Amino acid sequence: MQLTKRFFVFNALAVLGSVAGTVLAVIIFVAAYAKLFGPQADLNDLKRVFEVRSGIADIKREAAGLEFERLLEKPYQQELSGRVKALGASVVILKNREVVYSTNKFNRIDLERSLMLSDNTPNLDTLELDGKTYMFARADYTLHSGEKGVMLLLAQVKLKSNFYLVLGVFAAGFFIVSFLAVNYWVSYRFSHGIITPVSRLRKAAVRISEGDLSFGIAEEGEGEVKELCRTLELMRIKLKESIYLQQKYDENRKFLVSSISHDLKTPVTSIKGYIEGIIDGVAKTPEKMEEYLETARSKADQVNAMIDDLLLYSKLDLNQIPYHFEKTDLQMYFEDCVADHFYEYEKANIKLVLVSELKEKVTVLIDRERLKRVVQNILDNAQKYMDRPDGRVEIVLRETRPSAIIEIRDNGKGIPEDDLPHIFERFYRADPSRKSADGSGLGLAIAKQIVEGHEGQIWVRSTLGEGTRMMISLKKY
Ligand code: ATP
Ligand code: MG
Repeated sequence: MQLTKRFFVFNALAVLGSVAGTVLAVIIFVAAYAKLFGPQADLNDLKRVFEVRSGIADIKREAAGLEFERLLEKPYQQELSGRVKALGASVVILKNREVVYSTNKFNRIDLERSLMLSDNTPNLDTLELDGKTYMFARADYTLHSGEKGVMLLLAQVKLKSNFYLVLGVFAAGFFIVSFLAVNYWVSYRFSHGIITPVSRLRKAAVRISEGDLSFGIAEEGEGEVKELCRTLELMRIKLKESIYLQQKYDENRKFLVSSISHDLKTPVTSIKGYIEGIIDGVAKTPEKMEEYLETARSKADQVNAMIDDLLLYSKLDLNQIPYHFEKTDLQMYFEDCVADHFYEYEKANIKLVLVSELKEKVTVLIDRERLKRVVQNILDNAQKYMDRPDGRVEIVLRETRPSAIIEIRDNGKGIPEDDLPHIFERFYRADPSRKSADGSGLGLAIAKQIVEGHEGQIWVRSTLGEGTRMMISLKKY
């Protein structure tokens, strides 16, 4: 619900709730009061009012049936006075608006008022005189002489004013207390649902502004406040991501600078050495000179390949090169890979075979060029780290229900157990004695980036002296 609506509903509830509560409390109060203090008295009061009303009605009815002259007779007046007094009432007899008989003294104004009011309202049965309430009855006469006669009956209604005062105070007090209580509850609900979360959000915003992004903002509160929490949390995540990306860029830049100066230094120094050898005349014969130049060129090629690797790795790391995924038949693709490397392997006297354990055609979604780079790196390693004459490399294709598994296993020298967890790290090379051998230690780091770019996985099993098994899993199409 919107905040404005909630405010409205809560406020309305506060008012209506306390009114309803007060009404209920008054009912209970009256019942309890009657039970405790005077059920009889109250009942008698009511009974009395009823008796008086019917008493004066009787007198009026009887008197109305009489001639006016009869009202002026002493015995009748005495009897009348007795009955009226028994009821606690008064009687006034007027002739031509002049009092001819009265049991109580009424002032002129009150009498005129009574006459006027009852003239206007024929069946008037109560009236207010001087702030007091009277039950009222009136009988009219027209004398033979044409004169007007009137008999007025008045009985004051005595209410228990004390009780009503108490009741009034109680009701007002109860309303104020219950209104305050309900209001307190409403404020509590608001502070719980809105003010507390908002002050928490404020603290979170302060932390974010101070650069602390390590905490999560819980979704709490009501309506818009909850949405605000969600938005702020989203903002925090986005900010964190962008800072992470920025750090990664910085790190990547540092990495490029440091690796270029570090790893390229060796081949560049040696190129420089050979060229200086030629300039200084160390290579005297044309054959020697050609040998020097050839070596310098191969070193330059090596530098070139290293720079290519570095740039590729750096771009992959920053997700800068897009993949071009294509539906590809797994077996046909690897037959192709084997064909690509067949000649090279034959030259190195290593057997390269493809073993397919697939029961049916398996299709994968891959970037063919990129994945070739992975296979090439692994096959290069298998060849490079082969230390026996009967070298053999097998590419085995298997499948599980969701994935295709490619295993490239060699019977080379294997990788020491301690190195296994690190070989996919950039620049990591297991055998320090071969540090000078060509290669930068980026091959498997690049392979891992590319496989993960396919949402696949790459891992290794290896036993020293027995061989290495590189495994790749790719999601089936
Ligand atoms: P680059 O591939 O950049 O030319 P590299 O081959 O040394 O250099 P990676 O391909 O990343 O680097 O391999 C990392 C290390 O893992 C290698 O230096 C090597 O010690 C070890 N290694 C990888 N494959 C094999 C393998 N088939 N047999 C034995 N050791 C291996
Ligand atoms: Mg390699």
